[in-house]
Amino acid sequence: MSECIFCMIVNGEIPAKVVLDEDDVMAFDDVAPQAPVHTLIIPKHHYAHMADDVPPDTMLSLFSAVPKVAAIKGVAESGYRVIINNGHDAAQTVAHLHVHVLGGRPMAHGMVRFGSEE
Ligand code: 5GP
Ligand code: ZN
Repeated sequence: MSECIFCMIVNGEIPAKVVLDEDDVMAFDDVAPQAPVHTLIIPKHHYAHMADDVPPDTMLSLFSAVPKVAAIKGVAESGYRVIINNGHDAAQTVAHLHVHVLGGRPMAHGMVRFGSEE
């Protein structure tokens, strides 16, 4: 049994609010949303990071899923932010590659807030 929480979601071992389910990727709502819409898109296969030999077809599926998720969640017209936290300095907390889709209210300009211990 996998120790990875996102692999457990893929395997149906823990529940998630599934938004999209395709051959090689799936999307589900974030358990602790940071915006009115906060959905995660993941490859079904486990890759911890972007450099972990993710097949180009899987990358294509991940990014092709973004506008689909936005449409399903009703933010295609209003806009949304797409974020990948990759590795330690990006504060990636779940070591299974995932794309955040955030929207549902206007955001401030800019993307980066640094931690306090820099
Ligand atoms: P990261 O910080 O790695 O970019 O993002 C990980 C995200 O996964 C966080 O936004 C966190 O709320 C979300 N998350 C962590 N555990 C779970 C879970 O069990 N279910 C769901 N749906 N989201 C989770
Ligand atoms: Zn995993």
